[in-house]
Amino acid sequence: MQTNVLGYPRIGSQRELKKACEAYWAGKMSLEKLQLTARQLRRQNWETLQQAGIDLIPSNDFSLYDQVLDMCLMTGVIPARFQLLMSSLASASSPELYFAMARGYQKNGLDITAMEMTKWFDTNYHYLVPEFDASQQFRVLSTKCVDEFKEARSLGIHTKPVLLGPVSFLLLGKIKDEGLHAAALLEQLLPVYTQLLQQLQQAGATWVQIDEPCLVLDLTAEQRSFYQYAYTKIKAAAPSLQLLLATYFGSLQENTALALELPVQALHIDLVRAPEQLDAVLKNFPADNQLSLGVVNGRNIWKNDYTQSLQLVSKAAGAIGLQRLLLATSCSLLHTPYDLELEKDEQVLTPQIKGWMAFARQKVQELTALKAILDGNEALLEANRKSLHEKSIASIVHKPAVKARVAALTVADATRLRPFPARQKVQEKILQLPLFPTTTIGSFPQTEEIRKLRADLKKGNITTAQYDTAIRKAIVDAVQWQEGLRLDVLVHGEFERNDMVEYFGEQLEGFVFTQNGWVQSYGSRCVKPPVIYGDVQRSQPMTVAWSSYAQSLTRKPMKGMLTGPVTILQWSFVRDDQPRSETTLQIALAIRDEVKDLENAGIKVIQVDEPAIREGLPLRKADWETYLEWAVKAFRVSVSCVKDETQIHTHMCYSEFNDIIDHIAAMDADVITIETSRSQMDLLEAFAAFRYPNEIGPGVYDIHSPRVPTIHEMTELLEKAVQLLPARNIWVNPDCGLKTRKWPETEQALRNMVAAAQNMRAAV
Ligand code: GLN
Ligand code: ZN
Repeated sequence: MQTNVLGYPRIGSQRELKKACEAYWAGKMSLEKLQLTARQLRRQNWETLQQAGIDLIPSNDFSLYDQVLDMCLMTGVIPARFQLLMSSLASASSPELYFAMARGYQKNGLDITAMEMTKWFDTNYHYLVPEFDASQQFRVLSTKCVDEFKEARSLGIHTKPVLLGPVSFLLLGKIKDEGLHAAALLEQLLPVYTQLLQQLQQAGATWVQIDEPCLVLDLTAEQRSFYQYAYTKIKAAAPSLQLLLATYFGSLQENTALALELPVQALHIDLVRAPEQLDAVLKNFPADNQLSLGVVNGRNIWKNDYTQSLQLVSKAAGAIGLQRLLLATSCSLLHTPYDLELEKDEQVLTPQIKGWMAFARQKVQELTALKAILDGNEALLEANRKSLHEKSIASIVHKPAVKARVAALTVADATRLRPFPARQKVQEKILQLPLFPTTTIGSFPQTEEIRKLRADLKKGNITTAQYDTAIRKAIVDAVQWQEGLRLDVLVHGEFERNDMVEYFGEQLEGFVFTQNGWVQSYGSRCVKPPVIYGDVQRSQPMTVAWSSYAQSLTRKPMKGMLTGPVTILQWSFVRDDQPRSETTLQIALAIRDEVKDLENAGIKVIQVDEPAIREGLPLRKADWETYLEWAVKAFRVSVSCVKDETQIHTHMCYSEFNDIIDHIAAMDADVITIETSRSQMDLLEAFAAFRYPNEIGPGVYDIHSPRVPTIHEMTELLEKAVQLLPARNIWVNPDCGLKTRKWPETEQALRNMVAAAQNMRAAV
């Protein structure tokens, strides 16, 4: 039985790639030096996997920015707006074109916007969306997959090149010209794929991994037919390659038969996310093929449960024989941090919790350990059982009081006292806000000074008292400034927060942080998600002191500012020993305690941000309902403890609500603020069609750009909004928080925004 790794993290154990790319972009590093860094990182990864004894070692899983962008270059999928730049460059494989597509280009009289970025399935990784337009000539512009295969070979390492498969590549992209059809595009794309595969064959490749994660999605009949068509062509063109078709992030379900029919030599399935699919796959498994069992989780940081993995392996072995199996990671290890051994500070990560974890390097060792156990190494299995057992009874993980509290939740706990119309009346009386009330989403510009303050506190360069004084001063300034601008509902500015999830994770029980647990989010951007290891509970108020201090400075309402339970879950590494819904409800109760304390401290408006609700949607539509039900329940649990007169806000920064509007309404927030400026309020139509009953703040300007919007354009947007929704329900606010902006532009923009609101008031 062979071991198979689908992909390895590529940013470098010390984020070398991030640093090198950023230095190169800033003109502080030569291209040669950047390429040298990249070669060193590839070599380290290959050697790590070789030394660990892995049989199928991936290549071309490395990328300077993104593997989908690499595929665009390998197939000539260059959007028309880059043609001019391309023709001005000596070579199309120049990194200048590559990075321009990723990041946009403003140089030499050209101003080209970057390609769009979106989330890679249900991960927090973002890929660049291929754009298919009529002007494109599909051709091999870069031979990256062949070059990297040869590079490894010259180091004496035989690798398995990894390519994003043609059908997923096509389906993940966007067709830009009407009249262009996917089938016709596939027809043009396939010769390029077959050329690449033929070159790999000539270079001596044996196994090639072709990723087709779209096989775990709901597909149309036409999309399914693409698979048959494409793989028959590919097979004929490179007959001596052994193709390993990789699926991950879900179950094949009704696409199982399709996947089993394709002319490939091996199929990979994700048995972490969908262990139940094994039976169906085994039932009709083709006689000569191999099956790659994804048993080691590529999406999490927990130790593998060997007992459970081996059960799956023996079931498969019983059906098709051990020698036809590959032991594999569930997906690429791109989504896990590098190496647990780099976590040296026992104050940060205690040896006990560390003992339960595995990062990419450890997961690779788990594959070889599983193989060793099958060869008779009982001790490895025993040690794993012992560790998992310890965790299952550890008192830092399991808190009976927390579990009991979740179990005791009733419908009333998730329901406000009276329905919205009654609450609206009392809130109007208490808050005395004008029509078209103005507010902001929470954060204000995070200056160098503010960042330094937090860093100095962390390093111990300043005392807590010094820190508090400085943050208080920032709050005083922000409050006076907002009063000067005549905003109606104020915020304290979130100066004490580095990140909207980390800030709460650091104060909640059941969370732990790593020093070096970085994973790639996109390009050179990496994130270090908190780890939820145990039952979550709040031991003391987290935001009350700051919010009440801010409220003491003004007679206007000060918004309390919290992050919602789904968002906290979604942006963390989660437990694998209980359902996500259970963990989310625990977080919801902790937030609920905070909401109650804020109310008791005299805070009359409380915002609970849930920007991640939409991105948590399952990949299959059939699973949406269940998810949305518990997600909405968690939000409601976190806010429904307040009196009618306390106004609950929520905020979401995205602009697709059509398909989930009923659930958004079911959250029953008194006010929701959303992003709309970039869609020219079109999005409000969904709310209007639904007759959305509660109050709503459609963002009137885009905070992603330093551009100052005019009074006129914001007034126009608001006029559009009153066409669609009752004026009484409309708030005036930006699209999102302002922390990435600078003060001067923020001041101008908000001044104009308040003027636009005044225009609206004057008009009614
Ligand atoms: N309150 C947060 C802020 O203003 C909301 C951020 C978000 O929606 N992503 O920064
Ligand atoms: Zn937002």
